[in-house]
Amino acid sequence: MDIQMTKMMYQSMGIDEKVFDFGQKIAESLKERFEEIDKTAEYNQLKVVRAMQQCKASEACLYASSGYGYNDIGRDTLEDIYAAAFHTESALVRPQIACGTHALAVALSGNLRPGDELLSPVGKPYDTLEEVIGIRPSNGSLAEYGITYRQVDLLEDGSFDYDNISKAINEKTRLVTIQRSKGYQTRPTLSVKRIGELIAFVKNIKPDVICMVDNCYGEFVETVEPTDVGADLIVGSLIKNPGGGLAPIGGYIAGKKEFVENAAYRLTSPGLGKEVGATLGVNQPFYQGFFLAPTVTAGALKGAIFAANIYERLGFAVVPNSTESRHDIIQAVTLGSPERVIAFCKGIQAAAPIDSYVDPEPWAMPGYDSDVIMAAGAFVQGSSIELSADGPIKPPYAVYFQGGLTWEHAKFGIMMSLQKLYEKGLVQLP
Ligand SMILES: *Cc1c(COP(=O)(O)O)cnc(C)c1O
Repeated sequence: MDIQMTKMMYQSMGIDEKVFDFGQKIAESLKERFEEIDKTAEYNQLKVVRAMQQCKASEACLYASSGYGYNDIGRDTLEDIYAAAFHTESALVRPQIACGTHALAVALSGNLRPGDELLSPVGKPYDTLEEVIGIRPSNGSLAEYGITYRQVDLLEDGSFDYDNISKAINEKTRLVTIQRSKGYQTRPTLSVKRIGELIAFVKNIKPDVICMVDNCYGEFVETVEPTDVGADLIVGSLIKNPGGGLAPIGGYIAGKKEFVENAAYRLTSPGLGKEVGATLGVNQPFYQGFFLAPTVTAGALKGAIFAANIYERLGFAVVPNSTESRHDIIQAVTLGSPERVIAFCKGIQAAAPIDSYVDPEPWAMPGYDSDVIMAAGAFVQGSSIELSADGPIKPPYAVYFQGGLTWEHAKFGIMMSLQKLYEKGLVQLP
């Protein structure tokens, strides 16, 4: 197809010729990197299909159950499929898990007992976990149940502080939590390989400690998952990578049978565990979303790399940078001024399939210490595997950008962010 036709299409949607030409040139320079991503997606696609075939996924699995949900073959088979794809003994994949934080809270509280200690050897965990753990005092936190917490920060250069980790492990240490993604911090995201090294180190000191990985945003970015390198549990949200954009709710916990069951007894009830939990009508999108997850993740990853290359080229600091290898789908861009953060987010919103006419504004969101602007025009509320961006209105004025159900849509969204900056004279194109 003639590129002129594509350019005219972009122009008809509000993208200036100069913005398109600049973006297009960058996109064309990324062919080789995108080929690598496609290879990972191909491998992971087969991994998922093989799991579905091995577990004999059938049409009956797609039906809905109600009430107690006893003998929900779709639910039970899907849990086998997750376990097969992630090479674990067991999995819990449920619409009753409200979000990623809930999945992590269930995994932690199901496996920790009063007097136990939790250790994070990779620094401060994701914001919402502070209240789960009780780092910030909170009703119902692990701290209230007599579970203590220790943290060892990463060293200045992002490496593990092995000395202090070995000192922090003691007779009370029961569970080690490792967050794969940097989340909204500036530390590097951990590769699966590095997670494996850390787990080996911890297990060498204390073999019976449970190593849990917060796998949010990391699924299918590599051909291996933390459970391939020794993690006892991985935990994530279905409105991120593994839901493939189709799951309307849900979370998963996969790993050693004993630990997954402990989590299930907490999610439902002691004695009931995995036996109850109707799936209503979500089996079908859970299956189809998991099937699509490898390619959806690949699209989001291409979008993140495209954004890094565009904004780095324009002189902004980007994490990860334009060339480094990727271990999650989040892209941070330091734009340096509130006007730029706002323009960027307005562009992402304007490119959305849903709510594109909405004009996002910064507001004082509960739980944040500054105004925050968020852009999301999603089919599923708050879904961050869909194209979305948010930026706290405070120095260094960085935006965090993630998702895109297709590479083509992520590309359009980033072009639109640039368009808004360009229109307002907030960037200069070369
Ligand atoms: C998103 C995320 C969570 C929490 O997920 P919610 O669904 O927002 O509750 C936890 N950890 C990491 C690293 C995440 O990215």
